[in-house]
Amino acid sequence: MIIRNINLETVCGITSKLPENTLPEIAFAGKSNVGKSSLINALMNRKSYARISATPGKTQTINFYNINEALYLVDLPGYGYAKVSEQEKIKWGQLIERYLHGSKQLKVVFLLIDIRHKPSGNDKMMYEWIVSQGFHPVIIATKLDKIKRSQKDKQIKIVKEGLGVLPGTIVIPFSSVTKQGRDEIWELVERNYLN
Ligand code: GDP
Repeated sequence: MIIRNINLETVCGITSKLPENTLPEIAFAGKSNVGKSSLINALMNRKSYARISATPGKTQTINFYNINEALYLVDLPGYGYAKVSEQEKIKWGQLIERYLHGSKQLKVVFLLIDIRHKPSGNDKMMYEWIVSQGFHPVIIATKLDKIKRSQKDKQIKIVKEGLGVLPGTIVIPFSSVTKQGRDEIWELVERNYLN
């Protein structure tokens, strides 16, 4: 994908009306600190356009990035903050649910998992939640540069088994440091989810 222009077009909080877009939407979910902002910046060829590491307790939003007037990259709020109150977690969940359930243009959800670790309970919950909304998530195994090449297959297996993925689930290893996996993600999106 050649990035000609990007625009953070819509930011939705818990009480916001979600946009009724006509372009395809590609969403990204993952626990805080997994590397979601870094991935979105890499996909947009920007260093710091997407917010980097929201601090715990900070207002959680869904951000819609318009890419080339052709599609939206949708940045869902990161989950798993220990410091967030139960009430905030519920509101956050309702916002995500409203989006996953209500968007007519959502084509695919990418779920980001740190390649170094067994998925957490929250990761598994998020995976099942996305599936229960009728989507077949694609997994992005982040921070690939942090493991030895010889560890890759083993770690991918741990990620798949930890989530209990559906048969045929695609796992794309990615590093925002080396940008490995970036082209593969764009190719997948362009091949399957645009027009
Ligand atoms: P977010 O909270 O999911 O949006 O995560 P960020 O993109 O803000 O990244 C969290 C931290 O992990 C930051 O310090 C990043 O520099 C670091 N990070 C993100 N992706 C990678 C990666 O692929 N490799 C390495 N080595 N560090 C990364």
